[in-house]
Amino acid sequence: MSLQNRTLLKVIVLGDSGVGKTSLMNQYVHMKFSQQYKATIGADFVTKELQIDERNVTLQIWDTAGQERFQSLGVAFYRGADCCVLVYDVNVLKSFDDLDNWHEEFLKQANPTDPRTFPFILLGNKIDLDGGNSRVVSEKKAKDWCASKENIPYFETSAKEDINVDEAFHCIAKTALANE
Ligand code: GDP
Ligand code: MG
Repeated sequence: MSLQNRTLLKVIVLGDSGVGKTSLMNQYVHMKFSQQYKATIGADFVTKELQIDERNVTLQIWDTAGQERFQSLGVAFYRGADCCVLVYDVNVLKSFDDLDNWHEEFLKQANPTDPRTFPFILLGNKIDLDGGNSRVVSEKKAKDWCASKENIPYFETSAKEDINVDEAFHCIAKTALANE
C-alpha cells in the first residue's frame, strides 16, 4: 500500500495493570493471544494499517510498559493523542472504579483543546472468563458511566477469544479520524 495520503492516528491505551491492554493490542495487531503475563512489550507503540471510508489510516497504538501508576508516564506518551482507549476488566470492580482516575489523568496530561469532544472509548475486557460467571460489572453499569461522560462508545471484548476486538479498534480509528 502506498504511503501517500496516509493519516497517522495516535491512540493511547490506559487502564489498570492486568486488565488486558497489551493482550487486546496483540490480538488486534498480531492476531495472537498469550496467557503469559508480560509486563512489557519492549516498544512504545505498535502500528496497524487500515482503511476507513476509503481513507488509508495508520493506527499508532501506544501501550504502557507496566508503568500503570499515575504520573509515571512521560509527556511523550500523551503528546498528540487522537483517541484514548480506556480498558477495565469486567471481573474486577477496582479496575472499573479506577476509570474516573484514568479519564481525569488523561485530560490533565494530554490537555486536549476541547476536553468535552475529545474521543474516548471504553472497553470492558475478559468477558470470556469463567463463562461470564465471575463478572462483577454489568453492561448497564458500564454504559451508564459512558453516558455520564459525553456518551463514550462502549465495547465488551475478549482478547483471549477474539471477541469484538476488530470492531472496537475500527470504532477507535473512526472516532479518532472524525475528530481530526
Ligand atoms: P495489561 O497489564 O493491561 O497489559 O494486561 P495483559 O494484556 O498483560 O493481560 C493480563 C493477563 O490477563 C494475562 O495473563 C492475559 O493472558 C490475561 N488476559 C488478557 N485478556 C484476556 C481476556 O480477554 N480473557 C482472559 N481470560 N484473559 C485475558
Ligand atoms: Mg501491558
